[in-house]
Amino acid sequence: MNSAVCFVCDECNARIDLREQVNLCPKCGGLLETQYDYEIMKLSAGLFREYRRDSIWRYRDFFPEVSEKNIISLGEGGTPLIKSLHIGPSLGVENLYFKNDTLMPTGSFKDRGYSLAVSYAKEIGVKRGLTYSSGNAGASFSAYSARADFPGIILVEYLASDTKKSMILLYGAKAAILEYENFEQISRMLDEAVRELGCYLFVNFINPIRHEAMKTYAYEIFSELQRVPDYSFHPLGTGGGLWGTWKGYNELFQIGVVDRLPHMVAVQPAAVCWLKQAIDHKMSEGRMFGDSTQTIAQSISGNSPLHGGKRLIRCVRDSGGLALAVSDEEIIQAMRDLGQEGIVAEPAAAATVAAFKQARMAGKIKSNDTVVCVITGTAFKQPDVVRRVAKLPEKVIRADAGELQALLRQFHMDKA
Ligand SMILES: [Zn+2]
Repeated sequence: MNSAVCFVCDECNARIDLREQVNLCPKCGGLLETQYDYEIMKLSAGLFREYRRDSIWRYRDFFPEVSEKNIISLGEGGTPLIKSLHIGPSLGVENLYFKNDTLMPTGSFKDRGYSLAVSYAKEIGVKRGLTYSSGNAGASFSAYSARADFPGIILVEYLASDTKKSMILLYGAKAAILEYENFEQISRMLDEAVRELGCYLFVNFINPIRHEAMKTYAYEIFSELQRVPDYSFHPLGTGGGLWGTWKGYNELFQIGVVDRLPHMVAVQPAAVCWLKQAIDHKMSEGRMFGDSTQTIAQSISGNSPLHGGKRLIRCVRDSGGLALAVSDEEIIQAMRDLGQEGIVAEPAAAATVAAFKQARMAGKIKSNDTVVCVITGTAFKQPDVVRRVAKLPEKVIRADAGELQALLRQFHMDKA
């Protein structure tokens, strides 16, 4: 049974009907959050007793209601939780896991959010939509809006890799490249797009639905482990993944499925770590910090928060979590480390592993802690970085058994 009740404004507590085509609070412009009836949620709590590799729609009772005919799904969610064989044990942590969302339909975790947000938009009769993207969200919105026969326009940042830009057009959406000096300009433009131009936006948080799908991280990870991890590491762009996961764990707590909550860890490139600045300086709102062009982690290179980043500051503080910053060098090493675990991650995704190593070496993670690093996107969309991180093979042979035998000797593999 569906448990969603209404939207509630973060700022003025206004309650708004879920069927209204709104982005921000019509009264004060604040962010909207979906509120649920926990007593109704409890009726579906049996879902969490076992894990099934299924789409996010397994948990549809915990989303705003979408009727069967409006669900747009490409099999998003239900990704594997891979236990670390090298990175964790080499640092004395046996229970390090990677939630491998590189396996999503468009190669990025954004598919969770867009499957739900596009389906929901169809449900409430939205006719067209606009999003801003650093690349991955654009490809995802393009794919899902094409399946929904729903005209979408995507503004993709000029810093995105050509592969990411091209993918958006391959999936069929209309797109333009967005140039800007700082992220605050984008924030202002998006607010005006809603207020003055009457656009329906699919940008995290300004769209009140997208991050609801990120609750499935909590649902899936708990169901598979049958315990709450001590630490949950997330790359931080606009913060939908971090916030949605936190909301999901809090719901599991409210309905009595779990009796504790994880420490939430937000990971940013050192070049733009506005959240770390806000946490370290005990600020109630984040401010612009650093230069987006100074990191290879494109997907998390935004240098200022949307709407002050208040939810994200609250999440890190309330969970006793961490806001960490990692260098490009640490990210590149983490990409190599992850390769040996069988996962090729884009820089933003590998940032969680870089941060785990940093936190462990700084003594913040105990050896018996259970840690999940969310790996949000595939390396295949930033091929130039892959070429920087991993060299081409140096040895060349002809198709000849003698040359092969010589090669096996060089690799010390000639004896059984
Ligand atoms: Zn309000």
